[in-house]
Amino acid sequence: MRILVQKFGGTSVADIDRLKMVRGKVKAALDQGYKVVVVLSAKSGKTNKLLDLSTRGAAEPDLAEVDSLLSTGEQASVALFSMLLKDSGIKARSMLGWQIPIITNDEFGRARILSIDASRIRKEFEAHDVLVVAGFQGTTEDGRITTLGRGGSDTSAVALAAALDSCECEIYTDVDGVYTTDPNLCSTARKLDRVTYEEMLEMASMGAKVLQIRSVEFAKKYNVPVHVRSTFSDDPGTLVAQEDAMMEAVLVSGIAYDKDQARVTVCGVPDRPGVSAALFAPLSENGIMVDMIIQTASREGVTDMTFTVSRKDLEKAIHLMKEIVARIGGTGVEHDPYVAKVSVIGVGMRNHTGVATKAFAALQQENINIQMISTSEIKISCLIDEKYTELAVRTLHDAFELLLSGKCIIAIGSYTPTMREIPDVVF
Ligand code: ADP
Ligand code: ASP
Ligand code: MG
Repeated sequence: MRILVQKFGGTSVADIDRLKMVRGKVKAALDQGYKVVVVLSAKSGKTNKLLDLSTRGAAEPDLAEVDSLLSTGEQASVALFSMLLKDSGIKARSMLGWQIPIITNDEFGRARILSIDASRIRKEFEAHDVLVVAGFQGTTEDGRITTLGRGGSDTSAVALAAALDSCECEIYTDVDGVYTTDPNLCSTARKLDRVTYEEMLEMASMGAKVLQIRSVEFAKKYNVPVHVRSTFSDDPGTLVAQEDAMMEAVLVSGIAYDKDQARVTVCGVPDRPGVSAALFAPLSENGIMVDMIIQTASREGVTDMTFTVSRKDLEKAIHLMKEIVARIGGTGVEHDPYVAKVSVIGVGMRNHTGVATKAFAALQQENINIQMISTSEIKISCLIDEKYTELAVRTLHDAFELLLSGKCIIAIGSYTPTMREIPDVVF
């Protein structure tokens, strides 16, 4: 049995006309002899509306009930689409997370997949040609509905593709592939034919929401080729896959940006062993992810520690830092909620020098001040004033795009490897 997993995002399922276009993609796969698992998102805007309802319904909504509510967006999509398929004579049925089941842990709102019962799906294929699976959702061992975090249908699809040995996982969306930067922001963005898992991880963690970061982690771990393409055209799209020699020849493959950044500086703390641990332990204990960190040179035994967090965590981080300063000493806590991170990403950087210099010079030319820098072996990230984000992305893109003609490509990104654990999935 040849199984193909196809996932369609929120804009692809927004109305009946679009669902008919989705049906066309599914029919094409059936014509090629595949049994098809179709993973659907809620229609665009639906999850936001449900989330908004939950916060209006209760001051501190119960997280398990929020997940139960959010999962209904995907439930509506799969039921409607299954009707449409059956109406055109295709043997199909819908399946919710708990019906498969897709078992997750109980971290409501950001649950991790623990196992998928592939045998149940294979059994359903004895009577059906298409299974329409609700993305973004799973169930705990004891039957509570969970969701996988925003954009989580990508992860449902890739995990199913891994569990079912699908030759690849097709991710259909409203753009026709992965671009060198967000095509809705930069008109000169260029579509990439191929991109490595590592580069895509960098781009996703830098804010390129075209794929949820956890879906890329899954794809890399289980070596599932992910094919990002458009529901509304037949263009070949972008293949996210393992590195090959051709890809290494490309110096930079993308520019990403992330406006969900806030900067915190803890001033005048003692410069002695244990201070960093004292500062960062309460942040991780409270589930706050820290991205960039800079410690300034010590002056008379004291130092400043600057780091970035997601904007939603800023208030909490400031509060925790003030407590620590009161305990270990320090002159105060400063912050800036209006910063953004722009990143250049490319596996080719491993073997080439000069990428950072080129990026810094491009930003300087536009008078954009770099507040912090972080690097991994395949990315360079710069923290800048948020108001220059679009200009910085375009400037970097143009700077590196010039190199394309000289067979050199550049990418930007920031990397937080310690913050991302990959679950051990048992299929
Ligand atoms: P879906 O609802 O299909 O899951 P998303 O809105 O989650 O779609 O992701 C698609 C969007 O990702 C695009 O419309 C585009 O604006 C954005 N995007 C950001 N960075 C990139 C990139 N580098 N390449 C392609 N799309 C990107
Ligand atoms: N509907 C969910 C969201 O909006 C999951 C998804 O679309 O992938 O985040
Ligand atoms: Mg998405």
